[in-house]
Amino acid sequence: MKTKENDRRSAIFLDRDGTLIEDSGYIHDPSQVVFFEDTIPALRCLSEYFLLFIVTNQTGIAKGIISLQDVKRVNNHILSILAMEGIQVVEVYICPHAREDNCLCIKPKPFFLRKSEKDHGIDLKSSFVIGDHPHDVEFAENAGAKGIFLLSGHGSKHLHEIDQNAVVVARGIKEASEIILEAVKNRSGTI
Ligand SMILES: [Mg+2]
Ligand SMILES: [Zn+2]
Repeated sequence: MKTKENDRRSAIFLDRDGTLIEDSGYIHDPSQVVFFEDTIPALRCLSEYFLLFIVTNQTGIAKGIISLQDVKRVNNHILSILAMEGIQVVEVYICPHAREDNCLCIKPKPFFLRKSEKDHGIDLKSSFVIGDHPHDVEFAENAGAKGIFLLSGHGSKHLHEIDQNAVVVARGIKEASEIILEAVKNRSGTI
């Protein structure tokens, strides 16, 4: 939430596949990108109050199915469409590893949240993670941010893995943005 000029800044950390765009497996080409219809209006509203980041696990790189170059081309395509709509993303964080690599940066490890705190002065306590996998919610919890679990993408398939009494669940990016903006308007900052 924007307060004073010198305050640390709040951010929204967005998962990519199943959150912003359809999850159609290992996406290697910009032509495969299909935005959810609510993504752009939701991000436009959120960007009035928050800095935006994308954090994506791309295990297909470690598995040799897609290349880091492919992923970057796809990401740049997404960023250019958002930019045309007046939506700026501060940074896209990619974990290119497989889970068995035991890297430091795969979600739900909080590596990229901590990095944004260090590199961009983000206040994680007043920041949110939005994603369609239980790892996205754990990612938030592991760094003191708040997670919102989406039923879009693979969300409905994984719903049984989360504690629905403890986790905020939204149908998709639009509902998640409404929940967050409601909290901003109430100045509670909590959901
Ligand atoms: Mg996802
Ligand atoms: Zn990694």
